[in-house]
Amino acid sequence: MAATQRLNEDSTSRERHDPVIVVGGGVMGFASALRLLQDGFHDVTLIAEKFGQIPSKSSPAVFRPAWMGRTPTDRTIRWGLSTLQHLAHLARLGSEATGITPTTHLEFFKHNAGEAAARPDPVLSKVMPGFRDATSAEIATFCPEAAGGWVYSTFMIEGARYVRFLEGKARELGLRVVGPGKKVAGEAQSAEWCASAAALAERAAAKLFVNACGLDGGQDCYPIRGDLVLVKAPFVKVAVGEYNPADGQRPTYIYPRRDHVVLGSTYLEHDGSREDRPESTQDVIRRCSEFVPELLNAPVIAVVPCVRPGRKEGVRVDCVLADGGLAVVNNYGHGGGGMSIAWGCAEEVVSLVLERTQALSVAGSASDLLVGSRLAGGGPESLRARL
Ligand SMILES: Cc1cc2nc3c(=O)[nH]c(=O)nc-3n(C[C@H](O)[C@H](O)[C@H](O)COP(=O)(O)OP(=O)(O)OC[C@H]3O[C@@H](n4cnc5c(N)ncnc54)[C@H](O)[C@@H]3O)c2cc1C
Repeated sequence: MAATQRLNEDSTSRERHDPVIVVGGGVMGFASALRLLQDGFHDVTLIAEKFGQIPSKSSPAVFRPAWMGRTPTDRTIRWGLSTLQHLAHLARLGSEATGITPTTHLEFFKHNAGEAAARPDPVLSKVMPGFRDATSAEIATFCPEAAGGWVYSTFMIEGARYVRFLEGKARELGLRVVGPGKKVAGEAQSAEWCASAAALAERAAAKLFVNACGLDGGQDCYPIRGDLVLVKAPFVKVAVGEYNPADGQRPTYIYPRRDHVVLGSTYLEHDGSREDRPESTQDVIRRCSEFVPELLNAPVIAVVPCVRPGRKEGVRVDCVLADGGLAVVNNYGHGGGGMSIAWGCAEEVVSLVLERTQALSVAGSASDLLVGSRLAGGGPESLRARL
């Protein structure tokens, strides 16, 4: 079924009574909650410690499924294509409400960038509409020293508007929201964590949980700092970037939003600090002005250091089981590309939750489904992954 149809669906056709608790108030939390409600789950509660000042609200973000560790290519393509259809539909509803603005992305690689930079990304060449080589005029306009580049259609995804839009749609379908300031206690995915979430949601009997906690989704996560500079530059009409793998800590991009332009960035693994670094700000402006020289004098509106939720193995979407028939569907570890695959991941979350509800109803008792030893200490190591 097309994503556009799903967005408009209501839950009346299929009533699903099992309560589901989603932990996380970013794009993954609200996209998962909305898709569950659209699929007929009518008792969905979302808990979050924070709704503002989180990566989903502050990231630049362009639709470009990349920067996600070792996430398998086929999954990234599937999630990216699904999200693309969804964003195309939202763009027609107006960017003020949805945060989705269509644009064109031009990316370049320079002569000295090395062989890897000249190879097209296998995900982008399959997912990005109209993916083609940059013309000589495009190279002359933006990067005369480039050896080549690619151009494709894309969207700007303004997180603060987009997540609010998803939240509004989910609330219309009956989403209960608990927070801000409500932190689920215990290590994510543990039995203690499930019990704490159930108590906060006032759903003591809940057995189904979605872990959309970003950087706090599991012990396998680590921070990746990114420095952003917001400038007033209404003359910028397209997105421009240089993502040289040989200079991986300094991706350069210019992303035009509705009201300002985002300049980036840095990609500093294991750096979760959020203090301002004036030298990074200057370096970002200097690098971006190589592509659009007028940016050198653009008024700076704000400097935004933020942190990507990194995970070496890439995005984690799977289901783990615990004693008592508890099931945690994971949806975290999206690194620097989560906004670009959120809708596709949410669809997979629904499939995993549905499989669990079907298994629960067939077995009658969730505990019958368990194999192996019982959960002892409540740690995630006691949970068994079901991929
Ligand atoms: C500099 C930068 C550039 C980026 N550029 C792009 C881009 O161009 N394109 C793109 O697609 N993506 C981009 N991203 C990545 C994207 O922003 C992230 O992948 C995405 O926002 C992750 O969303 P999330 O919902 O998993 O996490 P978050 O937005 O971090 O949300 C996590 C939520 O979980 C809650 N939480 C955590 N633990 C608990 C707990 N115990 N109890 C209750 N609540 C809890 C938090 O309070 C929060 O509400 C960028 C990110 C950064 C930082």
